[in-house]
Amino acid sequence: MLTVTVLGSGTSHGVPMIGCHCRVCTSDDPRDKRYRPSIVLGIDGHNVLVDTSPEMRLQLIAAGIDHIEQVLYTHGHADHIHGIDDLRRFNESLGRPVPVYAQQEVLQDIESRFPYIFAHGTQGGGIPSLDLHPIDGPLAFNGRTIIPVPVWHGATRVLAYRVDNFAYVTDTNRIPLESQAMLADLDVLILDALRREPHPTHFNFREALEMVEILRPRQTYFTHLTHSTLHAEVEQELPPGVSLAYDGLRLELP
Ligand SMILES: [Zn+2]
Ligand SMILES: [Zn+2]
Ligand SMILES: [Zn+2]
Repeated sequence: MLTVTVLGSGTSHGVPMIGCHCRVCTSDDPRDKRYRPSIVLGIDGHNVLVDTSPEMRLQLIAAGIDHIEQVLYTHGHADHIHGIDDLRRFNESLGRPVPVYAQQEVLQDIESRFPYIFAHGTQGGGIPSLDLHPIDGPLAFNGRTIIPVPVWHGATRVLAYRVDNFAYVTDTNRIPLESQAMLADLDVLILDALRREPHPTHFNFREALEMVEILRPRQTYFTHLTHSTLHAEVEQELPPGVSLAYDGLRLELP
């Protein structure tokens, strides 16, 4: 059994944004409260966390997820990484360093941005112990295969991930043809669709819908949403088979 839990469906500012009193930032609909982007893949009871958002601790508590066996990173932007310290909680449950997988350049980013995590002789604990692995092909996890799929986010190379007939494709505005082929025959796709207006490094709704037309997944959920999207309103405008993700959304795939 494969489960997917959306921990965060929001853009880098989160929704509500600090100091904004627009109708979405003040909405009573819980689906309009968006933490920074992250998901958990549950693979036969073992959990893979995709990205460590700044709200990771709050997200995992809210979703009732007690343990993580492995971490994958999509890319090195702050909204996807900066909850990294809270991984130390899983050193206790695992009894060993947390296995972390990412592109080589993202691992280098992590080492240069959080040098204290990797400094020898830090006194008093308080830091996570991580076992870094560069991704150079499909990953075996608990009897399944996690396939990294390269996509572009402006000039930044991002990894999307596919497991069986599910794929998580966040932070992109261009999916090369070879990668499109790796995203065929999906039951469920979670796809970056920032907002209605264009953006230089993210799909907007129109571009994301064009990609849905090409990939033809059975069901698509848009993520990385801004405060310009009122969930109840925009969801009604989307075609059949396309919905908005929201924090706490949980999917079960056979
Ligand atoms: Zn707002
Ligand atoms: Zn990004
Ligand atoms: Zn992002």
